[in-house]
Amino acid sequence: MKKPIIKTSKRPNAKSVIIVGGGIGGLCTAARLLKNGYQVTVVEKEAKVGGRANRITQSGYTFDTGPTLLMMTDVLYDTFSYCGKNFDDYIELIQLEPNYQVAFADKSKITVSSNLPKFVKELERFDPKGPEQFYKFFAAVSAIYRISRASFIDTNFDKMLDFINPKSGAELLKRRGLSKLYNFVAHYFKDERLRQLFSFQSMYLGVSPHEAPAVYSVVSYMETGLGIWYPKGGMYSLSVALAKLVTDLGGDIQTSTAVDEIIIEDKVAVGVKIKNTQIMASTIIANADLIYSYQDLVDPKFRPSMPNTKLRAYKQASSALLFYWGVDDPCENMLHHNVYLCKDFKNNLDEIFHQKVLPRDPSFYTYIPTKTDPSLAPKGKNVFYVLVPVPNLDSNINWEKGIERIKNQVIRRLKSEFGLDIGSKIKTESIFTPQDFESKFNLHKGSAFGLSHHFFQSGYFRPHNKSKNIKNLYFVGASTYPGGGIPMVTLSAKLVTERILQDDKK
Ligand SMILES: Cc1cc2nc3c(=O)[nH]c(=O)nc-3n(C[C@H](O)[C@H](O)[C@H](O)COP(=O)(O)OP(=O)(O)OC[C@H]3O[C@@H](n4cnc5c(N)ncnc54)[C@H](O)[C@@H]3O)c2cc1C
Repeated sequence: MKKPIIKTSKRPNAKSVIIVGGGIGGLCTAARLLKNGYQVTVVEKEAKVGGRANRITQSGYTFDTGPTLLMMTDVLYDTFSYCGKNFDDYIELIQLEPNYQVAFADKSKITVSSNLPKFVKELERFDPKGPEQFYKFFAAVSAIYRISRASFIDTNFDKMLDFINPKSGAELLKRRGLSKLYNFVAHYFKDERLRQLFSFQSMYLGVSPHEAPAVYSVVSYMETGLGIWYPKGGMYSLSVALAKLVTDLGGDIQTSTAVDEIIIEDKVAVGVKIKNTQIMASTIIANADLIYSYQDLVDPKFRPSMPNTKLRAYKQASSALLFYWGVDDPCENMLHHNVYLCKDFKNNLDEIFHQKVLPRDPSFYTYIPTKTDPSLAPKGKNVFYVLVPVPNLDSNINWEKGIERIKNQVIRRLKSEFGLDIGSKIKTESIFTPQDFESKFNLHKGSAFGLSHHFFQSGYFRPHNKSKNIKNLYFVGASTYPGGGIPMVTLSAKLVTERILQDDKK
C-alpha cells in the first residue's frame, strides 16, 4: 500500500497526483494512474465520493440521487481490466428488460426494448411502417456510433484536424450525422411521437434535440443496441465499486475536504490549498466542474487563455428538479424507468433552453428501482425518483413558488394516466434543485449536466483536458471531452491518463 501524500510545503516526488473531486471521473482517473505507479490522493469536499452519482438514505428508503441509466458498460469493464481487476468482482449488473416506457400527451404509451422483435411490434402500433423506419434508423445510428466512438469520443484532441478529420467527417456527413438531432430523426420517422421517442435522449445531456448535433443519436443506439443496465443495490454501487478499486490499488481518498485553491508557481501547478494547509504534488487534476475549477480555484493571472469573460461565455446545459419520494404504493403499471412527454414538447424545450422559465406543462421522468431491487425500500413500498428538466440558474425563476406547482402537476398526471394515486402515499420526501447542484457539487450555474453539448462545445471545441497556460494541470469529467454521462466521463478518465503518461515521458 502506497503512503498518502505528506502535508508539506516542499515539492513531492515526481509521480504524485492530487485529484480535486471524487466523482466518477476523479475515481476512474485515480485508478488508472495508480496502476501506472503514481501516488494518488483524491480530495472530495462532500462526506461521500461519487459526486453526482450519489445516494441518500431516509426513513428506510435508499435513493440514488443522480444517474439512473447505466449504458455502454464496456468502458467500465475496460477501466477495471486495465487495472488488473474484474468489474464483476466489484458489482452485480442486471440488464433491464424492457428498457423503459414512454407516455405521450395523447395518452398513448410505448415500451422500449432491446428485444427487437418485441420492440418493432410496439413501433407498428404507432405507424405500420415503424419497423422498417426503425431498422433503417438503427443501421444509421450504429454506423454513427462506430465512427464517432473512434474519431470523436475516444480521442484526445491536440489540433482542429484531429476533430474535423476529412475521412470520418465525410462518413458522418453521408449519414447526416452533422445535422440537428431532431431533423435527423425526422428524416426516418413520420409519426411525431416516434420522432420524439428517438430524439428526447439528448435531454440526458441537458441539450435540446433541436440544437444537439445528430451524432448524439448514439445515445439511442446505446440504449437499444447495447442495453440498459442496473447495478444491484442501486447506481451508487458504482461509486462504491470505483472507490474500492482506488483503495485496493493503494490510493488515498480524503472526504469532507474542500480544496480552496490550486497552487501555481512559475506557471506550474504544484499543489492545492485546503484551509491553511498546502498539499504538494507533481500533477494536479481537477475533477470538480471545469468552469468552476478555473474560475474559483485558479488565479486569473495564471490563465490568460481562460479569462473569466471566456468562461462566462461557455453555455451550460439545462438542469433538473428532483423529487425523491418513499411511497407506500405498489406502483402498478410502472416500470423501472418511465418517461412522460408533455403535450407541446417543442415549447417545453423552448421554455427550458430559451425562455428560461419553469415549464408550464412539464415533461418528466421517473425511476422506480424497487421494481428490480426491492431491497432499497421497506417491504412492499417503493422508491420513487422524479426528474423534471428545468433551466439552470442563468434564469430568474422563483424556485420556491414553482416547485410545489410542478409537484402537483406530476402527481395529477400520474393519477390521470396511470391510475397512480400517490399524492397521499408519500411517506418521505427530499427535493434537490439547481441551487443544490451549485452549492453541493460546485456545478457552474447549477447545471446538472455541466457544459452544454452543442456542436461548438463538442470534441475539439470543448475545453481541453490539459491547461494551455499551466503545466501539470489537467481536467477530467463531464465538462471536458468527450462530455457528460457516466460512459463519457469514464472515457474522459482514460483520455486524461493517456495525456499525463505521454507528457511524463517527455
Ligand atoms: C440528475 C442527474 C441524472 C443523470 N442521469 C444520468 C444517467 O442516467 N446516466 C448517465 O450515464 N449519466 C447521468 N447523469 C450524468 C452523470 O451523473 C455525470 O455526467 C457524471 O456523474 C459526472 O461525473 P464527474 O466526475 O464529471 O463530476 P461530478 O460527479 O460532479 O464530481 C465532481 C466532484 O468534485 C467535488 N468537488 C467540487 N468542488 C470541489 C472542491 N473545491 N474540492 C474538493 N472537491 C470538490 C464535487 O463534490 C464532486 O463530488 C446524470 C446527472 C444528473 C445530475
